[in-house]
Amino acid sequence: MKNQKIKFKNYNPKLHEECGVFGISNTSDASTLTALGLHALQHRGQEGCGIVTFDGKQYHSEKRFGLVGDNFNKEKVLKKLPGKYAIGHNRYSTTGGTALRNVQPFFADTNAGGIGVSHNGNLTNAITLRNKLVQEGAIFHTTSDTEVIVQLIAKSKRFKTIDKIIDSIFHIQGGYSLVMMTQNTLIGVRDPYGIRPLVIGKLKNSYVFASETCAFDIIGAKFVREVENGELVYVENDKLLSLKPFSTKKVRPCIFEYIYFSRPDSILNGKTAYEHRKNFGSQLAKEDKLDADIVVPVPDSGNAAALGYAQERGFNFDLGLIRNHYVGRTFIEPSQKIRSLGVKLKLNANKSVIKNKKIILIDDSLVRGTTSHKIVKMLYDNGAKEVHVRIASPEIKYPDFYGVDMPTKKELLAANKSVQEICNFIKAKSIKFLSLNGLYKAMGFEERNKIYPQLTDHYFTGDYPIEIIDELGENKITQLSLLSTASNN
Ligand code: AMP
Repeated sequence: MKNQKIKFKNYNPKLHEECGVFGISNTSDASTLTALGLHALQHRGQEGCGIVTFDGKQYHSEKRFGLVGDNFNKEKVLKKLPGKYAIGHNRYSTTGGTALRNVQPFFADTNAGGIGVSHNGNLTNAITLRNKLVQEGAIFHTTSDTEVIVQLIAKSKRFKTIDKIIDSIFHIQGGYSLVMMTQNTLIGVRDPYGIRPLVIGKLKNSYVFASETCAFDIIGAKFVREVENGELVYVENDKLLSLKPFSTKKVRPCIFEYIYFSRPDSILNGKTAYEHRKNFGSQLAKEDKLDADIVVPVPDSGNAAALGYAQERGFNFDLGLIRNHYVGRTFIEPSQKIRSLGVKLKLNANKSVIKNKKIILIDDSLVRGTTSHKIVKMLYDNGAKEVHVRIASPEIKYPDFYGVDMPTKKELLAANKSVQEICNFIKAKSIKFLSLNGLYKAMGFEERNKIYPQLTDHYFTGDYPIEIIDELGENKITQLSLLSTASNN
């Protein structure tokens, strides 16, 4: 499906989330292990975090703003979360809706018993479903699209919880991975295209579901396999069971997990994200002819690609930028003004390394151009002779609707400017992007057009696998905005 079929204009960015999910079955210390798993997944969302447990008799829930390490670090808190089953969530939201009620996991009592839900991704028909549910009498407590799933589960006429879940998932569309929990079952679901990630691990007799494998390493769990696209897995009586109730599609995982989002030590399709990124860098080097004194990464997002580039061409790799590790990701700040300040808070020039040097500066991606613009200036202000920017992914021209924080088309630099205009904007001596075929080549494919399935790569191609059902009128946006304003109070 090509992008021209989709109207972006009225899509409500308030519902965009990219998050980390985790769940563990039948183990003592379930909440502590969940806190550790969430800590390893902290890069996926820093706005809020939560854990829900079941202790054999009742459910317990703790939800907080901020980082896992600042909230779930004391026995006092973890003691409030007894039980052998637990699920957890790290929340990332872009604008608005910053309210504790939007922090997950969500919990609901249904006529088949309690259910906890953690969700990573974005539903492309959430508003449409929400409006329908409201018309039918549902009362929503949050502005999150995840609540639509909870409401659909609660409303299902099916008898068993698993069937209620399947029933609800038939209605939703988009990119999603879900980790859910009932009294005696841990459940994981991945969307029909496998856009958002979900992996299975094993720790003694327990199973673990998580967004990324780095959450297994921290608790000593072994990586078993990825949840397949359109698969529902569940753990009952310590057994892992699998259902494929949804229409099968060709798997199309999100390419941005490879480029930027996953932690470098997490495994994606048999290789670490670090290996993939190094390969993107070395492929970029193969497509380039420029000579330079040093290759400098934008830390940390450009580290692996810069190393791959430098090794491929035999150039010196040097740390021309020093990162302050006590600042979150630049994107976490909602306004553009603070976001540009964020680059300065996070990075400083390493003067002795860059002075009088012809520099190849490498980052994983260029979105609005804020980072590159600031860094190029910083390097020149500190004595660099020439700064040439190299980006280890193609030009991002199309926004995302499946759970990655990408701005609107208007804000995407490459959607509105030619490569030369981008170069002028960031004031670099030259700029080059990795080609689309190069990106696929670096992942071991011949080239993009000759293979199917492709990954979900609409950022570069405009090829959206799932239609965006929600097209809001101004009234409906206002209603939701009011809701999220109310929830901020
Ligand atoms: P920009 O400064 O807007 O051009 O964004 C590019 C920088 O943001 C790069 O350093 C990337 O590593 C990082 N980045 C790219 N995509 C995302 C995303 N979805 N969320 C947060 N950061 C991102």
